[in-house]
Amino acid sequence: MIKPRSNILALTPYSSARDEYKGRSASVFLDANESPCGVGSGQAYNRYPDPLQLQLKSAIARVKGVKENSIFLGNGSDEAIDLLFRAYCEPRQDNVVAIEPTYGMYSVCAQINDVEYRRVNLDDAFNFSADSVLAAADGNTKLIFLCSPNNPTGNNLSREEIVRCIRNAQCLVVLDEAYIDFSIDNTFLRQLGEYENLVVLQTFSKAYASAGIRLGMAFADEEIINVLNRIKYPYNINQLTQEQALEVLSRHGDIQEQVAVILQERERMSIALRNIEGVQTVYPSDANFLLVRMADAKKAYNDLVDKGIIVRNRSHIALCGNCLRITIGTPQENNILLSVL
Ligand SMILES: *Cc1c(COP(=O)(O)O)cnc(C)c1O
Repeated sequence: MIKPRSNILALTPYSSARDEYKGRSASVFLDANESPCGVGSGQAYNRYPDPLQLQLKSAIARVKGVKENSIFLGNGSDEAIDLLFRAYCEPRQDNVVAIEPTYGMYSVCAQINDVEYRRVNLDDAFNFSADSVLAAADGNTKLIFLCSPNNPTGNNLSREEIVRCIRNAQCLVVLDEAYIDFSIDNTFLRQLGEYENLVVLQTFSKAYASAGIRLGMAFADEEIINVLNRIKYPYNINQLTQEQALEVLSRHGDIQEQVAVILQERERMSIALRNIEGVQTVYPSDANFLLVRMADAKKAYNDLVDKGIIVRNRSHIALCGNCLRITIGTPQENNILLSVL
């Protein structure tokens, strides 16, 4: 098992009032210096939320088919990414390896934590080989970041290569599945029990239509989850978020319907964009966005901004020269984009 930094192993975690009474039945709570009164209508937000979010984890465990103690919840996936650096990477000594191009937060967290970030370029088809990623790793590599479907390229990484990478890595492999609900490929959650060095990230921000509540999920071996729980802020998921997430999970059918519409729109947009002047390539996508190579991305971007339409210009990113990343919106929003282009 991959060991966290020695200071993390040695620390005494913060013990909250609620941790200490541990759910024995009680009706008078004078332990946490909360206000005894709520304000305004509705729920009693005068109380601290459950530090371990047990009710929410039990609902997530049911939907995802995993054990509750293999779930960590963070203030977005971004919190889990940052905590993995803080738990496992010694600043100025350890390094991490990631495919390139990919999601920007891995390298931002590496810089914040003063950890070397090694990039391994994808090939022309935006795929990767386990060999090239593992060749960039050494004895001080603590995390490998893979993202499938990948942002901003939109494609799935090869499942065999992901497996080869997990099997042969001497460190944790963080597989970011933020877009898995839009993908034809299956999640790696079924494989969690097979690989003690696998961390799967998912989020409420994309298919679950809840970017505003800031809720990310990390799934891994219980030992890794315990490490993250030791170092997180005690009440990292607020009460409003926990309640809304339960509501979203109870409407799983709605989410599936919305995803189906987005997938239809992705196909429609992919074809329509191909027939527009100035569009050179619409890359295949397994996510809720399209990467589109333009004759002149900067001009297209500025023309769209002038009409109040914002897309992402990815031109300066490796392998993405003259590329725009366009999120699939509502049918109406997509039509506006097409008409302006
Ligand atoms: C959008 C996105 C996330 C989500 O991050 P949150 O902090 O959960 O909103 C994670 N990973 C990738 C690759 C993304 O594109």
